[in-house]
Amino acid sequence: MSDCLFCRMIAGEIPADVVLQTDRVFAFRDINPQAPTHVLVIPKEHHATVGALAADDAGLLGEVVAGAHAVALQEGLVTDGGAEPGYRLVTNTGPQAGQSVHHVHFHVLGGRRMEWPPG
Ligand code: AMP
Ligand code: ZN
Repeated sequence: MSDCLFCRMIAGEIPADVVLQTDRVFAFRDINPQAPTHVLVIPKEHHATVGALAADDAGLLGEVVAGAHAVALQEGLVTDGGAEPGYRLVTNTGPQAGQSVHHVHFHVLGGRRMEWPPG
């Protein structure tokens, strides 16, 4: 989609601080980090929301989640076989949740204690 910010980042038209990519998954640092580690993990193919992605290609959704965990390992948020110190994986759908980019993305957040419940 030529008018989608994240599609344009995948295409190299807008700069991205890439931390990991596979043939179908792309991960880059959030421009406005909310934690010491804040990485966005997305499918290279355009899908608007997590629900649309689950319906269209559940296998790709699994690859994106596996990519998010690989980012957490790479960033030292967990270790192989361990879950410490830990990370939070967030995806927002729709205006009330605060979705501002309509290309599904998972936020990988870590490096500080996360409040629960979230605000
Ligand atoms: P959301 O509000 O859940 O849709 O998340 C969109 C995220 O994209 C926000 O955390 C923004 O800071 C981030 N963002 C917007 N533009 C860019 C950009 N050019 N590079 C990296 N992250 C961006
Ligand atoms: Zn897109």
